[in-house]
Amino acid sequence: MQFIDLKKQYQVLKEQIDANVMKVIDEGHYIGGEEVKTLSNELATYCGVKHCLTCANGTDALTIALRCLNVGEGDAVFVPTFTFFASAETVALEGATCIFVDVDERTFNLDSKKLEKAIEQVIKEGKLNPKCVVVVDLFGQPADFPAIREVTDKYNLPIIEDGAQGFGGSINGKKACSFGDIATTSFFPAKPLGCYGDGGAIFTDNDEYFALMSSLAVHGKGSYKYDNVRIGYNSRLDTIQAGILLPKLHAFEQYELRDRNVIASKYDELLSKDFVTPFVPQGFESSWAQYTLILDSTEQREQMQAKLKDKGIPTMVYYPIPMHKQSAFKGYDFNLDDLKVAESLCGRVMSIPMHPYLDDQTISIITNALQECK
Ligand SMILES: *Cc1c(COP(=O)(O)O)cnc(C)c1O
Repeated sequence: MQFIDLKKQYQVLKEQIDANVMKVIDEGHYIGGEEVKTLSNELATYCGVKHCLTCANGTDALTIALRCLNVGEGDAVFVPTFTFFASAETVALEGATCIFVDVDERTFNLDSKKLEKAIEQVIKEGKLNPKCVVVVDLFGQPADFPAIREVTDKYNLPIIEDGAQGFGGSINGKKACSFGDIATTSFFPAKPLGCYGDGGAIFTDNDEYFALMSSLAVHGKGSYKYDNVRIGYNSRLDTIQAGILLPKLHAFEQYELRDRNVIASKYDELLSKDFVTPFVPQGFESSWAQYTLILDSTEQREQMQAKLKDKGIPTMVYYPIPMHKQSAFKGYDFNLDDLKVAESLCGRVMSIPMHPYLDDQTISIITNALQECK
């Protein structure tokens, strides 16, 4: 059994994917070209955002977004402590200071009240300049942007939405990657919409940001290619990857997102009596990058993972260590008492297989095994 069955998906989409890959190779147009353009337009339309810039990966997307906001030394950037490392790493790479904020125990996403408290504390200390907030859509579910916006508007801070896992999610019909002043996503194979290698995209409604980020992604180009007006990056999505992503995006729109939600509902129904299952607030929709249970203790998790492994059922722990306890952020001591929810979650969360091609038989094998192993 696969944790995420990408081979199954390929079998279903093989004809279109193969044709698109061969077309790129036949035409000899390996960088840029029609596929990249079409994909960018379709992604922007899907998310309901004016501009989409594809790039090399989700980490680059964050870096370019942070550069666009001129984030640097002396700046405080607020980041949830329960996330993938890149959300914080990119901030540190720009020389800014991460201020880690706790998450909500039920949604796993940034706690807006604790965000406000952290902003207030940074202002009171007066050492760092509050610059922006990185808001992560963890496990496929958009963060509570209505509540977070109220806070960021009050302090006039822009939001970078890290939608690497959030692509496809929505709040009252409005899609993820449209909530930040700038939003980013990743097409790493295991994400809700993945390619066959690395890939990413950046979204914004802001024309100036879009122009600046388009330059940053191509060596800081100016009005033409060999006029370089700033120091930038080489961050492109390959044409072949765009050709692979196009049919995958169509499948995602037509049935994969729906099927992910059907599968999540089946898990809810079969597991919610015995386990703490994921909580999706009214009006929110998740794209189920992960289906994550909260267990009673780390010991229970270790025992269950071992037993499930013996039964051939893969499980994962996203994430075992919060950002403020990572070795790379050693010595972090801001607001530690307020990061306890994330610490507790890190010790107890366990993700189970989730992808749109899970059949009923496999779902019952998984849920029965979970009940037996509890
Ligand atoms: C995967 C991920 C990234 C980084 O994306 P890459 O394409 O692997 O660089 C950033 N943030 C979050 C929350 C992620 O899950």
